[in-house]
Amino acid sequence: MNDDADNIPYQSPVMPVLYEGDHRFTFRCYRGISCWNACCSNIDITLTPYDILRLKGRLGIAAAQFLKEYTVPFEMEKDGLAGVKFRPVEEGTACRFMTAEGCSVYEDRPTACRYYPVGHLSIRHENEFEDRANYALVSEPHCRGHEQPDEQSIDEYRHSQGLEPFDLHSRGWRQLILKKKSSGPTVGKPSLRSRQFFFMACYDLDTFRAFVNSSAFGDSFQLSEEEYDRINGDEVELLEFAYRLLKQVMFGEMSVPLKEGARESWEQKKREELRAQEQAQPFVPRPYDPALEPFER
Ligand code: SF4
Ligand code: SF4
Repeated sequence: MNDDADNIPYQSPVMPVLYEGDHRFTFRCYRGISCWNACCSNIDITLTPYDILRLKGRLGIAAAQFLKEYTVPFEMEKDGLAGVKFRPVEEGTACRFMTAEGCSVYEDRPTACRYYPVGHLSIRHENEFEDRANYALVSEPHCRGHEQPDEQSIDEYRHSQGLEPFDLHSRGWRQLILKKKSSGPTVGKPSLRSRQFFFMACYDLDTFRAFVNSSAFGDSFQLSEEEYDRINGDEVELLEFAYRLLKQVMFGEMSVPLKEGARESWEQKKREELRAQEQAQPFVPRPYDPALEPFER
């Protein structure tokens, strides 16, 4: 099972045709099919921030522990931003959640697993302001589901797989990646600190919550009590706030009010950073260091 959110790997089983959600195809996966679990035996699955939120909740562990035990970080193509993939079983390629009966985390399985055999691509076309979803079909020889006569549209399939909240709450993350890819050299490679901040805010939500409630954040950003209550009381709200703050930190889209004096200090740090030219520094994804300040891009 392969997932690529932003590029069609044409050498792969992903068919190089883009579809809208009303495209119809035939497919059915069911327990008892001859290829049962074949897709989960050889995984390459990129996790979205919302996938991590759901899985860590399912397992009842903190995000940092989930990242350490179940994932490996990687650098997403060319843009310098960190992604996270499932870590397969020791000395193997199978998913850790695969059982003979099927997926042991089925209700909280990740986006890529839900979409398969459909590939989801976030694309912003020239002259369009908003990104929109396009889809591709994945046809791998081991998957017999394509031989089943059950017909549905891609949108119907998405609904049957419960994808609506997964798409909704990963959209901010996809937009950040797309914006970084399309902004090219005018923005440049984000600094090491910004990349660490991106990693923490997207994937390590418990540490991000601690950061938002820290004096380092409170000294710079102006949030109302109501907003603190909202993001402290609901992890999905916290994640959406993380996307909003990242747009500000990475691209200067000012949507979280800064306290008096903080903006000047932020811009000064940005100028210093540009002078320091960290671009040559090799990227090593690692947990966020709260001693570092994120107010730069
Ligand atoms: S999470 Fe579940 S569906 Fe996804 S690869 Fe693992 S076992 Fe398969
Ligand atoms: S039909 Fe495809 S998706 Fe279903 S178990 Fe077989 S390989 Fe996996």
